[in-house]
Amino acid sequence: MDNSNLPSQPPNSPAESRGSISSEDGAPSGALVFLVGPAQEEIPVDVTGLREASSVFAELLAPHAMEMQGILYPGGSGLFASPLPREIALPDDDAFAMKAIIYALAFPGRFIRPATPSDPAPGPSVREFLHLAVAIKKYKLQDNWFVPWPRWFEAVVDKVKANGTAQEMVWLVAAAWQLGQRRRFAELGLDLMVKHEGRAGSYFRFCERDGVVQRALPLKFWCLIGERAARLHKRVVDLVRSRVQDDGCGCGGRAEINSAWASVYDEYGWGAAVPLSELLGAAEALAEQEVASVAEECDCMGERDLGPAAVREELEKFKREAKICVECVLMDEGSHSVENSVYH
Ligand SMILES: [Zn+2]
Ligand SMILES: [Zn+2]
Repeated sequence: MDNSNLPSQPPNSPAESRGSISSEDGAPSGALVFLVGPAQEEIPVDVTGLREASSVFAELLAPHAMEMQGILYPGGSGLFASPLPREIALPDDDAFAMKAIIYALAFPGRFIRPATPSDPAPGPSVREFLHLAVAIKKYKLQDNWFVPWPRWFEAVVDKVKANGTAQEMVWLVAAAWQLGQRRRFAELGLDLMVKHEGRAGSYFRFCERDGVVQRALPLKFWCLIGERAARLHKRVVDLVRSRVQDDGCGCGGRAEINSAWASVYDEYGWGAAVPLSELLGAAEALAEQEVASVAEECDCMGERDLGPAAVREELEKFKREAKICVECVLMDEGSHSVENSVYH
């Protein structure tokens, strides 16, 4: 995408940033160029508008800061007639994210890509959203309503929940972490764990080559997800085994479901390489079956540790307690304990 989509003069820029500044060389008044990313993509920006957008931009574009970089600022002596550079290099930033942010600031609430018949409500892809989240955090734009990231976020969450890959889920978890979205962070992390843990460690491998994820998501998250997934796995296996062993049914009415639990245990009980999603899926299906049918057919349930609905509740509790919340990631390893709310 070239820069032709970008406004040289955002419509909301204050009038004084236009009329009062001369531009002898034809450059847009008040304009400055960001050189973004390793490719140094040129993005023209409106200094006054950006200063108002966030405290980080205000600092970056403060007159003294710009002078230190050899840039003459609007309102200073000489203005842009000087041969000094009017560029600021931002090599660590993502060019697309910066363009999308500057566009949204200029045209409040709008996404940089125009609507088309096939995409009437354009928004960022999951990968683009991760870059946006990193930039929004870096430039402290979380509370700037001109940048409608909550809307973009919900759209990508819906998309990934419907049919996202493990990789996309990792990007979303990282974005939720960057934006301090506590509830989403815990939910998406659990989703990632339940759907993809045990599948040959696939997400570890691609994260090793993904510098953006490495910078955006603490390593602690990866330590925790392995640990919590292993614990969740073991708890589900233990529950399945307890259904097989502690059967109190003497009437024979539970014969069918009992043998179903036994075959789940045979299939998944000792396979360390069994994906968590398959084990959990099988256990949850049987838990539903317990609630739906057997409870009415058999009176022996009183002799068991768990009533029919309790199996499902146990599984929900296991998942809840496997969640990785913001505190879990921030917490000092030494203070891990039940009392310190590792169990949520
Ligand atoms: Zn019975
Ligand atoms: Zn926690």
